[in-house]
Amino acid sequence: MRLSRYFLPVLKENPAEAQIVSHRYMLRAGMIKQQQAGIYSWLPLGFKVLKRIEQIVHEEQIRAGHIPLLMPTLQPADLWRESGRYDAYGEEMLRITDRHKREMLYGPTNEEMITDIFRSHVESYKSLPLTLYHIQWKFRDEVRPRFGVMRGREFLMKDGYNFDVDKPSALHAYNRHMVSYLRTYERMGLQAIPMRADSGPIGGDDTHEFLVLASTGESEVFYDSAITDLKFGDRTVDYDNWDECADIVKEWTTPYARTDETHDPALFEAIPEARRKTSRGIEVGQVFYFGTKYSEPMKAFVVNDKGERVPVHMGSHGIGVSRLLGAIIEASHDEKGIIWPEGVTPFHCGIVNLKQGDPAADAASAALEAALIAKGLDPLYDDRDERAGAKFATMDLIGLPWRITVGPRGLAAGKVELTSRRTGISEEMSPDDAVAKVVGIYAGL
Ligand code: ATP
Ligand code: MG
Repeated sequence: MRLSRYFLPVLKENPAEAQIVSHRYMLRAGMIKQQQAGIYSWLPLGFKVLKRIEQIVHEEQIRAGHIPLLMPTLQPADLWRESGRYDAYGEEMLRITDRHKREMLYGPTNEEMITDIFRSHVESYKSLPLTLYHIQWKFRDEVRPRFGVMRGREFLMKDGYNFDVDKPSALHAYNRHMVSYLRTYERMGLQAIPMRADSGPIGGDDTHEFLVLASTGESEVFYDSAITDLKFGDRTVDYDNWDECADIVKEWTTPYARTDETHDPALFEAIPEARRKTSRGIEVGQVFYFGTKYSEPMKAFVVNDKGERVPVHMGSHGIGVSRLLGAIIEASHDEKGIIWPEGVTPFHCGIVNLKQGDPAADAASAALEAALIAKGLDPLYDDRDERAGAKFATMDLIGLPWRITVGPRGLAAGKVELTSRRTGISEEMSPDDAVAKVVGIYAGL
């Protein structure tokens, strides 16, 4: 993409309404535009990151054996009356009436609808286990929408639902989700720590929230620093192997890590003092096992291997896809702007031409752009007739992890400069070597 043809409405001033750094940078980098409180348009740069995050979520869900589908945003009130949540949900639910005076709602979550799909089509334990998920917009009429996409009213969520014949099998589904989430967040360059959570109004027995440590997080968290040393890495997992998944879950749930809702000071005090940490965290996901809470009232039964009709055991598992943009920026930025992890960056590499209009610099920049595209990468070439300082400031603000700088003086010696946004370290090399290095960095992702 050429910057001169792109739509990147960068703001020079700090927007007054933004209280936290991720909101400020998302507005300044032209990623989002607020349309109403907690409701945003996703401008091209923000949309690109949103799609990259979505893609990683899909890939990891499919790897774990979960099946994508798509349910609508609008749901009938009657379905929610069956579970008793239509009245219980309260003011966060946006209720709508159509021209025939039929009551509807904009879904804040989809337990009822997925249970309805399940009961319409599945009768036997032989169709189980089954996990269905979608990535769809949700609406919650939050009292205080704030911090940009972190607490929106309309927001994008991945929500998945497992259906199992009994509790042990459903607990394996719970573990499988935890493992897939660990891998998902790590691919996004994030450390998200699973913490024992309170089941709250959805109700349930087992639940963990995934939290990203950040001073601006809304939750107070307490943890053993040993947990921050754990890495998922490139291990291959057999998601059908109950013991293997349970062992990974055990690895991540053994060190103490809890939010203020479930914090146990006595257990916390037992950790060696040097490892005892208190911080704040952003919730980027949650896994729940809630058994037959929906299947019983909504009559989602299956016949088990003994010929008995039993309510199906369920859980629901969410990832805050749009909130993740904010969480990643909170965890990865400096005073100049965003620093995207390679896994989610909107463009793989920036190209800055220091002397637009100089035939050699123009030709070398265009050749670099073409070479990166030929290798399947997506570069952003700043071909505007601007000062070098302004071009660098834009690149730093939008946070592309790698930048190639092209100028007549370097070119005379056959060199361009490759700079890491994270370390600020620049290296001179030939254009071919710069392309090879950038290609190599992304090859493993
Ligand atoms: P919170 O406690 O932050 O209100 P929640 O526990 O009610 O969130 P869940 O029902 O667990 O939310 O939804 C799954 C995920 O969706 C959350 O972990 C979070 O990342 C994301 N999410 C929830 N509410 C919002 C919101 N208002 N804006 C953006 N993302 C949200
Ligand atoms: Mg939650």
